[in-house]
Amino acid sequence: MRLKGKVAIITGGASGIGYATAKKFAAEGARVAVCDVNQKGIDDVVSELVAGGAEASGHLVDVTNREQIAAMVDGVKAGFGRIDVLVNNAGIVLDAQLVKMTDDQFDQVIDINLKGVYNCTRAVVETMVAQGGGVILNASSVVGVYGNFGQTNYAASKFGVIGFVKTWAKELGKKGIRANAVCPGFVATPILKSMPEKVIAALEERVPMRRLAQPEEIANVYAFLASDEASYINGAAIEVTGGLTL
Ligand code: NAD
Repeated sequence: MRLKGKVAIITGGASGIGYATAKKFAAEGARVAVCDVNQKGIDDVVSELVAGGAEASGHLVDVTNREQIAAMVDGVKAGFGRIDVLVNNAGIVLDAQLVKMTDDQFDQVIDINLKGVYNCTRAVVETMVAQGGGVILNASSVVGVYGNFGQTNYAASKFGVIGFVKTWAKELGKKGIRANAVCPGFVATPILKSMPEKVIAALEERVPMRRLAQPEEIANVYAFLASDEASYINGAAIEVTGGLTL
């Protein structure tokens, strides 16, 4: 119960890593606010958490919409009284080589993966400052450290997330707020599982551990970083890749 008494907002909490993180945080005693654009997914996750004995709320919020985010923050504070942890997890991929990338593909990925992280963090930071502390966790990627073929938009967004983290760690550390990023390699979520078996096998071959990560293996890292066990980890971009980048 490392997160007992803490209130956490998890964006993109209806699927994949966000869903696994919501379950892990609830199992560790947190009260969890699940934010997503997928109403059915939200309802399913919240019902599962509540059935398991946790306190949870669902919020239909697009992280590109600042009014919706403000309403969610007000709702979470009204319902749970505080906000201790924000997990900026919502993200999309719209891959294309640069010569074929459309402006819309570029803009959508930057709007959700980068500006969405800013929007949500900006909306909670004053509450955390007033409380005297908090934890801001952010989904980057190995692509946010090394770049990747066909991912101009995604790489820029994930590099940018690490830029946020390093800046927020400096600005907010003295206020008791820690900001960190997690950089997963290949994780078996709906995005990857929809790929042909041959492609997945080729990805696994590149990983020294010869397998994809399970979403729970990323959720475990978020739970540790959110907990007081990580009390001196600030401004880090932690690679969780099974050794992919060695
Ligand atoms: P996923 O598609 O399973 O889940 C993403 C969730 O975000 C979905 O529930 C979706 O509805 C939600 N979402 C999308 N746009 C949104 C918006 N505008 N507002 C609110 N919610 C929105 O993806 P995942 O694989 O679990 O990825 C989660 C995060 O981890 C992403 O930021 C992704 O870039 C990052 N990541 C994933 C991998 C991987 O291999 N799966 C690797 C590195 C980083």
